[in-house]
Amino acid sequence: MSLLVIGSVAFDAIETPFGETGKIVGGAASYISLATSMLHNNVGLVAVVGEDFDMDFVKNLNDRGVDTTGLQIKSGEKSFFWHGKYHMDMNSRDTITTELNVLGDFDPIVPTNWKNPEFVMLGNLSPDVQLKTLERIDTRPKMVVLDTMNFWMDVALDTLKEVLKKIDVLTINDEEARQLSGEYSLVKAARVIREMGPKYLIIKKGEHGALLFGEEEEIFFCPALPLKEVFDPTGAGDTFAGGFIGYLAKVGKTDFESMKQAVIYGSAMASFCVEKFGTEKIAEISEADLNNRLEKFSNMMKVQS
Ligand code: AMP
Repeated sequence: MSLLVIGSVAFDAIETPFGETGKIVGGAASYISLATSMLHNNVGLVAVVGEDFDMDFVKNLNDRGVDTTGLQIKSGEKSFFWHGKYHMDMNSRDTITTELNVLGDFDPIVPTNWKNPEFVMLGNLSPDVQLKTLERIDTRPKMVVLDTMNFWMDVALDTLKEVLKKIDVLTINDEEARQLSGEYSLVKAARVIREMGPKYLIIKKGEHGALLFGEEEEIFFCPALPLKEVFDPTGAGDTFAGGFIGYLAKVGKTDFESMKQAVIYGSAMASFCVEKFGTEKIAEISEADLNNRLEKFSNMMKVQS
């Protein structure tokens, strides 16, 4: 089924205890599109970049079947830039720089043939743009998933709350869930956040896995795969979201059982993302790699009765 993705497509500079990069391709929608295109070939991207952007990356997305007709390239302008630095434990990071550049006045254009998508992934960017994109879609999709971050809770909370009323699933990390709800307990936080609009909430806990909260207060937990080395966690959340919605768009289902499977797909995808800097690893894995990893997840969680 058709899947429309919006979000930042950007340049990042990343510092970890293992090293640092210069400017490399990043952005929420870059990770999401790479992950979804592993599972599904009916993906459209709505985003904006400056004329400085790496067009080889866009070509790579096209080769993987992603329709980039909705990607605007602004001449004379610079792409969004984010510089992050991870602490020793790799679970927390500081944002050193956020330069919105072309994202500052981004007016999303949804191409005519993408106005009736069955699945929509509103990746991380301004809630105002997320809202505008939804308004420019003609029919209510089967499922709308939204990812956001503390930055937008700090600067655009009212608009974020407006978008939350129009979506089905919110994915955020534990710290952001606590900030948004004002509750420390994640179970209480989930109840407060679901009352804001989304029927389902996914709380990402980095190396400690992900929690899916459902309509009847059901909870599903999927651990993260313990890895010998976590090289760079950037984009793991976006890759998770891409794997999650990519799986649902592939099977065309939105029930809770399918969402549990989707959480496992998202976790398997994210486990690759952290193994190299930026988008490098997620761009090079094969279907066989993914299937091997899904089997590892399944074995890790199996108990004999
Ligand atoms: P994650 O590690 O999943 O939180 O996502 C990291 C990606 O988010 C990076 O590639 C950044 O380019 C992108 N990013 C960081 N800050 C923002 C922001 N304020 N709006 C949109 N994207 C952002």
